[in-house]
Amino acid sequence: MSAIQETIHRLHDELPEGVSLVAVSKFHPAEAIADAYGAGQRLFGESHVQELCAKCPVLPPDIEWHFIGHLQTNKVKQLVPHVGLIHSIDSEHLLREVNKQALRIGRRIDCLIQLHVAQEETKYGFTPDEALRFIGDGTWREMDGVRLVGIMTMASNVDDKAQIRREFRTAADTFRRISADIDSFRHLSMGMSHDWRIAVDEGATLVRIGTTIFGQRQYSSL
Ligand SMILES: *Cc1c(COP(=O)(O)O)cnc(C)c1O
Repeated sequence: MSAIQETIHRLHDELPEGVSLVAVSKFHPAEAIADAYGAGQRLFGESHVQELCAKCPVLPPDIEWHFIGHLQTNKVKQLVPHVGLIHSIDSEHLLREVNKQALRIGRRIDCLIQLHVAQEETKYGFTPDEALRFIGDGTWREMDGVRLVGIMTMASNVDDKAQIRREFRTAADTFRRISADIDSFRHLSMGMSHDWRIAVDEGATLVRIGTTIFGQRQYSSL
């Protein structure tokens, strides 16, 4: 068994029931994904549209591709035929474009609202108040090309575990408040290689793990 396969098995064993693993394969070649697939992994996360669209035709069709990166509206059209879940809806404008492009090809796409809870100013997403207001105003109900199924967030990239936990808890509170109103709300996507255990503690249903599975990314090779 390869190192990738051993890690996949270990993570599947460690994750509690009800928590699914999204293997973040960005910047890793199709062969590494096929290796993980061989260990039973079916959900893969990518953060660039071109990369996802290049990989999916050369890999098994029962892989479910998740888009986790910042999505530009001019790339949505290319993405919608291939994607199973978009984690990174960071504006109403983007959601409207996904809706439009999904309707054009007769699909309904599952989407997560990206929540900004981290201290970094560079992170995209809705603040909790903005998310609650957007859900409350209800315009999304007229968008038949998308289904809002939950929230995605990233904690600050810090060593302070208490801070990470506080940020995940804020996201989980927002998730629970919205879930009370929306039946389709069922996913809380949070936790990466260094903080997924805290995220699971705080109620994550999807964890997005890359480096632990595939090793360091070689950004320069692309
Ligand atoms: C790259 C990425 C991950 C995976 O991070 P690792 O530290 O490699 O586990 C998770 N979520 C998002 C949004 C990412 O861009």
